[in-house]
Amino acid sequence: MKLFEKNAAELSEMLQKKECSAAELTKDVLSQIEMKESSVGAYVTCCQDCLEQAEKIDNARAAGEELHPLAGIPLGIKDNISTKGIRTTCSSRMLENYVPPFDATVVQAVRKTGMIITGKMNMDEFAMGSSTETSYFHQTHNPHNLDCVPGGSSGGSAAAVAAGEAILTLGSDTGGSIRQPASLCGVVGLKPTYGSVSRYGLVAFASSLDQIGPLGKSVKDAALLQSVIQGHDNMDATSAYRTYTNLYDNLNGNVHGLRIGVPKEYFGAGIEPEVKDAVFAAIKLLEQNGATVKEISLPSTEYAINTYYIIASAEASSNLARFDGVKYGYRAKEYDGLTDMYERTRSEGFGDEVKRRIMLGTFVLSSGFYDAYYKKAKLVQRRIGQEFASAFQDCDVIITPTAPSAAFRIGENIGDPLKMYYSDVCTVTVNIAGLPAVSVPCGKSAAGLPLGMQLIGNKFAEQTILNAAYGYEQLVGGFQSIPETF
Ligand code: GLN
Repeated sequence: MKLFEKNAAELSEMLQKKECSAAELTKDVLSQIEMKESSVGAYVTCCQDCLEQAEKIDNARAAGEELHPLAGIPLGIKDNISTKGIRTTCSSRMLENYVPPFDATVVQAVRKTGMIITGKMNMDEFAMGSSTETSYFHQTHNPHNLDCVPGGSSGGSAAAVAAGEAILTLGSDTGGSIRQPASLCGVVGLKPTYGSVSRYGLVAFASSLDQIGPLGKSVKDAALLQSVIQGHDNMDATSAYRTYTNLYDNLNGNVHGLRIGVPKEYFGAGIEPEVKDAVFAAIKLLEQNGATVKEISLPSTEYAINTYYIIASAEASSNLARFDGVKYGYRAKEYDGLTDMYERTRSEGFGDEVKRRIMLGTFVLSSGFYDAYYKKAKLVQRRIGQEFASAFQDCDVIITPTAPSAAFRIGENIGDPLKMYYSDVCTVTVNIAGLPAVSVPCGKSAAGLPLGMQLIGNKFAEQTILNAAYGYEQLVGGFQSIPETF
């Protein structure tokens, strides 16, 4: 087995026991990038100093320094997370040449561990999309079938893990953008509780929904990286002030007595039968190993997509107002006065999907329509939160599909925004309610593509869902994230 095929937890042990060096591991990942990147397209920017970073870690280890367990592990970072001195584009023409003068809080945290930053991952423009097709730069392809999308918006982050072009990655999730691509690429992706990971330095899409989270090949990998990035941060006013415990150290796969809720609304007509079958089989396996299973109802789920697209677009329309050609980013070359400069800059700098969201968001916030749309959506948001809260009174974890289908073909949905939005039908409620959820692989479609199962927890119950997911991973004997052809 090549090094890039191993997961972060295994590699961490090997590094600590000096069975491999950070430089060897990094070289292995770099050669995988060299061979596969032209067909996968996971990166927007590759870092040139990876080997230098790795040698520093190896020297530190040789000198007997106490290192973090993740020191020397190659990490890719979604391109909407600010990296000092490394271009951060949000896969938009608007920020094509933007180099942040500061690190996001999560980047400061990962740098401290001594992880090797390999580069910045492709994504849907400003994280708006479910297929990575709205990137200004190029399409990312699903390593399990290069004609298919990797999901989105963290498509580059998910594809890189599945292709061995990074060992771990960071993504961001506003309505499903970590979990859905994780599902489509056969990897593990965690969307943390709102407030548990600092958003400082994450380019804002919908500030009340956005969270940064980890992607990796195993539940242990997600727990390792989440333990690095979680925590209170004074630089983020929505950061939750509490004690965060190490999720990896406390990981146990005991599912005996685990109370699973299965919401019937998530297994309805729009979900492919093969997805339902795979998720039900996974639930059955947990039940056979001591979990208790109960059907529950979350009746407001039918309003979730509408609610999400109103709230997310409203916030996006306000957040994206800063890209006006004045302070940073793209500015139109020719214009006639200030208003014309704004208009041309934004017309040329943003892609179609971003413009659609800005127009939708501006509309739902406008006087005359505010009560009918935005206010109503906020009321439904509260109801969705209440339904989850009452479900968690007698469940530890709620299990659903992650996405309604396996990966679809490139070009199949891009012309039909509503069909694309439906990709998030199982994931948006989690952001609307501010909950944590993890997606793990749970089988293959008839076409051989990965399928995913979502485990949702109560607020700050990351440990509970990761334990359940780890229990499942052990029961199935581990996940095969990298396709055999890679
Ligand atoms: N696909 C959803 C959207 O387009 C979710 C995006 C995200 O989570 N960033 O808004």
